[in-house]
Amino acid sequence: MLDLDGVATSPPLPEVLDAMIPWLRERHANPASIHRRGAEASRALEEARVEVARLVGVAPERVVFTSGATESNNLALRGAARLARRAGRTALAVAAHEHPSLLHPARSLTRCGFELSEIPVGRDGLVGAEACAEGLGVIALSHAHAELGTLQPVRDIVDAARRAGILTVLDATLTAGRIPIDAAATRDPDLLSLSFHHFGGPMGVGALVVGRNLPVPPLIEGGAQENGARPGSPNLAGCIGAGVAARTARATLAQRSSRLTSIGRLLAAELHRETRLRLTGAGLEARLPGHVSLTLPGIDGEAMVAGLDRRGLLAATGSPCADRAGLPSAALLAAGYDAREARGAVVMCLPPTGSLMAEDVPRIAIGLREELDRLRAVSGRLVS
Ligand code: PMP
Repeated sequence: MLDLDGVATSPPLPEVLDAMIPWLRERHANPASIHRRGAEASRALEEARVEVARLVGVAPERVVFTSGATESNNLALRGAARLARRAGRTALAVAAHEHPSLLHPARSLTRCGFELSEIPVGRDGLVGAEACAEGLGVIALSHAHAELGTLQPVRDIVDAARRAGILTVLDATLTAGRIPIDAAATRDPDLLSLSFHHFGGPMGVGALVVGRNLPVPPLIEGGAQENGARPGSPNLAGCIGAGVAARTARATLAQRSSRLTSIGRLLAAELHRETRLRLTGAGLEARLPGHVSLTLPGIDGEAMVAGLDRRGLLAATGSPCADRAGLPSAALLAAGYDAREARGAVVMCLPPTGSLMAEDVPRIAIGLREELDRLRAVSGRLVS
């Protein structure tokens, strides 16, 4: 089986699982308990927080553990919107092709008195710094677009937003553990979302990195855990696994980035050689390393993914969070692709903790070409 479904998840690292197990068994305790076992759990939780903070290059107090990037994005966007309103600004901006965990809460906020502008994007999926219009309260965007692989020019956007007094929400789900996401790379946005299962950590654990002195109100009410920003007992073993995933990511980032970049480029070139298809989204210079996205006009992306699956190749039609149910990709439609193209979307993205090698690339390219021939023959027979 060759795993090319890195937009969905990435295999957990062995050291993550090893670190988690004791906290699910003999060391199980609530970090809020004041006895010795509770204190040990609390220490371990804080050590994990330090590792996550180091990956982003911030103080540990700024890290709030959550259940994943979906929760982090909701917490960030709703919190930022309220803070902006206190400063007299009620205009929000999210790109029209954004991930549902940003677009949907932004649309919901319009029922609470906010105005939303859905930033228009072209086929490259790029958002420009000019989106930071005067008077805007919040701009939210994904560092890398799941379906198009486009890497946004976040430094320019965060700089422009800061100059204009606009709060920034950055979803680093697909970039964390693949490329640098520290302040030098992202200019330290006000709120930054992480999801650990996307780079070797456990599923169901995320974090929101909150700007200094930014009092983000919680989504749900309860106790004082996570500084009151995320009440409830934490997923202790999960957070500890997240810390280990963050530590490994920091230690191996340079090797990972160059491996993903070189195999991704090879895969794009081989796929083009076999099929003449071009990438959707941005060119290689502005893409998430290891991300290849195509469209097969006239061919259903879901049929292609099923065909590839039968050959032991795990791919996707887009983001696992998008509600497709046989519909064309909403993100591609929003970026100006027509319905035929949006129905034929296929995404191959190397998970950062996967084991795929350059030698595997020809098998993938030939597999896609043979499936393409087969599906074209089938659709030709159906038409004639
Ligand atoms: N944002 C992006 C860009 C994603 O690709 C995903 C999931 N694939 C999410 C958010 C949601 O992350 P989680 O699964 O941790 O809720």
